[in-house]
Amino acid sequence: MSAIQSYKSVLLVDDDPTQIAILTAYFVGQNVTTIMSAKDASEALTTLAQHLDSVDLVVTDLQMPNMDGVEFLRHLKTLGYDKNMAIVSCLSRDIIDHTAHLAKMHGLNIIGCIKKPLTRKLLDAVFQKQLEEISALAPLKDQSFTLVEFTGAMRAGEIIPHYQPKIDLRSGKVVGAEALARWPRDNATPVSPVVFIDYAEKNGMIEELTFRLFESVLIDLKRILAIDPGQKIAVNLSPIMMPNIKLPDQIDQLMKEVGIRPANISFEVTESSVLDLDTNTLEVLSRLRISGFDVAIDDFGTGSANIQTLKNFPYSELKIDQSFIKNVTTNKFSSETVRVSIALARQMDMKIVAEGVHNDDILQFVRASGIEQAQGFHLAKPMSAQDFSRLLSHGNGLIDVSSSSSAA
Ligand code: C2E
Ligand code: MG
Ligand code: MG
Repeated sequence: MSAIQSYKSVLLVDDDPTQIAILTAYFVGQNVTTIMSAKDASEALTTLAQHLDSVDLVVTDLQMPNMDGVEFLRHLKTLGYDKNMAIVSCLSRDIIDHTAHLAKMHGLNIIGCIKKPLTRKLLDAVFQKQLEEISALAPLKDQSFTLVEFTGAMRAGEIIPHYQPKIDLRSGKVVGAEALARWPRDNATPVSPVVFIDYAEKNGMIEELTFRLFESVLIDLKRILAIDPGQKIAVNLSPIMMPNIKLPDQIDQLMKEVGIRPANISFEVTESSVLDLDTNTLEVLSRLRISGFDVAIDDFGTGSANIQTLKNFPYSELKIDQSFIKNVTTNKFSSETVRVSIALARQMDMKIVAEGVHNDDILQFVRASGIEQAQGFHLAKPMSAQDFSRLLSHGNGLIDVSSSSSAA
């Protein structure tokens, strides 16, 4: 991943064209979309005035003709620029640090100071560190909702599970579904679960959200099982919850209250979450398996799990990540990853599920490779509990997998 991909527009200020060239090359390499430069402070201020909303990083020298860096910083503030700033200079470390302190007093966000000559290592040291800080804050910055809205919606039961059918590839039978959280907001853009799950994880609300969703799943499942008692619903568990050794008991209790057997539920945990061996997580997973739940390793192929990792955890199912399935017919690396994943799963006696089947070529490839189950927009998109029940009753729970077929 690029170190500074969170910056979209950068302004470089230096009277030395060589320095500008080095910095430009660095930011091009980091996939920054817009890179502007200015040879002195007044040119920089003119450019910035035109692009004040878009520029999110200014990298400046301190010694420039006409206006020095210190004066430039003050003008930046007056102009209303209050985003990120980095100082690059050949002045002594003391002077640079002193200037940075002054800039902070002006309210500027100084992310780092680099003493010339510029090296890749020095640049990385400033901008990689910044990325860590940015990624920690990203969901809070990008979100289009407030904490009150999120908590209110969650507690009012507005965040609900939808169901994406899982299809047995030999028979075309719908054997179950994956529950996927949805927040359909009235008069506002729906938020992707990737965003609000991440938000819930970072704000200590993921357990509450997961249990609320799980309760809804169990209630929906009651109705689903009345139509077909063999259905199994997969529930995603956040990695953050896995070390909680009370989790299996909490799950058991809810299952008993609603009266649903573990054979009708499976849990999905992402590959990345189980790579750091943790004894609590191992205990939780083992107890879930002992209770009779299936546990799937989700997004397989995106982390670096290998046979050893799989041996350490009692998984029953391997879900190959959709990024590989999507390209399986067109990209050698993807087809090779799928082939290795299948071999690994066979060796470990795990069931394999392909996710991201989005056209007929992929479907036929996946069927021919012996993968047991599949999910994908080509087969069926995530749908409401009512629509899923309807599919099972009116559609007889069958989806055509033999030839070209597509989701509604
Ligand atoms: P996931 O668990 O890997 O879920 C599969 C995602 O792939 C879903 O996205 C699904 O809609 C999407 N998908 C399935 N088939 C296709 C296809 O053919 N093409 C494309 N482009 N996408 C396909 P969704 O619902 O946006 O969820 C994204 C992720 O958010 C999930 O990935 C999961 O990690 C997380 N998530 C969703 N609901 C929950 C939840 O209740 N709890 C937790 N912890 N995570 C959840
Ligand atoms: Mg999943
Ligand atoms: Mg997945």
